[in-house]
Amino acid sequence: SSTAVSVIGLGDMGKALAASLLSAGFRTTVWNRTAEKADELVAKGALRAATAEEALVASPLTIVCLIDYDTTRTLLAQAAGALRGRTLVQLSNGTPAQARELETWAREQGAAYLDGGIMAVPSTIATPEAFLLYSGDSEAFAAQKEILEVMGEAKYLGAEVGLASLYDLALLSGMDYMFAGFFHSVAVATSHKESTAAGFTELLVPWLTNMARLLPVLAADVDSDGEPAYAQGLDVVLAAARNMAQAARDAGVRADHFERSAEDLESQLAAGGRDFTASGAVERLRAG
Ligand code: NDP
Repeated sequence: SSTAVSVIGLGDMGKALAASLLSAGFRTTVWNRTAEKADELVAKGALRAATAEEALVASPLTIVCLIDYDTTRTLLAQAAGALRGRTLVQLSNGTPAQARELETWAREQGAAYLDGGIMAVPSTIATPEAFLLYSGDSEAFAAQKEILEVMGEAKYLGAEVGLASLYDLALLSGMDYMFAGFFHSVAVATSHKESTAAGFTELLVPWLTNMARLLPVLAADVDSDGEPAYAQGLDVVLAAARNMAQAARDAGVRADHFERSAEDLESQLAAGGRDFTASGAVERLRAG
């Protein structure tokens, strides 16, 4: 494992990553387009690189945390010669296809490549709450695990380099639906003059927490070919979807999500379907 590391990109997240590596005692070299963003880190002992190339040259391991892959690619292309024999870890958010493309390019430059996804916010970096997903070069991961663990628990998903992005975006998608559900339910509940979002949320959190406990049961159903452990009548689920749509409309809240889901349930019933199951719901999405 290296004792020196470079960080390219000192936005909110890159700064937090670099600060954690510096605090852990690694020789940390930093570079950012807007150079002032390095000042605080340099005051604490980080080394300032004048160019992205200098940052790459300074350490056997470079962590990149920029706005996106295009920016990463443009920056690294100007310093491609510096990649040979080094390890590149890309933590900027992107798609599996972008990860595969950057891996191919980085290998052509003679670098070992790991792609990653940060499941944390800057303030939780290097706390027990933070975890980071990695995929790609397994030897590079094993060699650099100790340093990667500083930023948050390092979870290696496999050699297929797109996996970290795939899981990262799937996890973000789950979060996004959860927040969308929160916004919708608050809009409905607070249509009543005397209710507050805070008061309603005191009920929503324990309710969603209880429902979240059902997810491993549903996941087991998705994975198995046998009888589902959890099933509801499609007609029951349809009635609830219609009621949620109507209650939203009556409250002056958009109901399109529930209207679409009612339509879909109606067509499943019309096609002779009877049960609403987790694997059926997932299959339905694939087909759609
Ligand atoms: P910021 O907007 O704070 O930082 C963006 C970084 O990209 C800055 O270093 C910026 O440089 C750099 N940049 C943008 N355009 C260019 C360019 N054309 N050339 C060179 N550098 C450029 O974003 P974050 O730090 O929050 O996010 C960085 C990555 O981390 C993103 O992919 C994000 O999805 C991911 N992430 C962020 C989380 C968060 O909570 N913040 C959580 C999980 C992942 P400059 O300072 O010069 O503008």
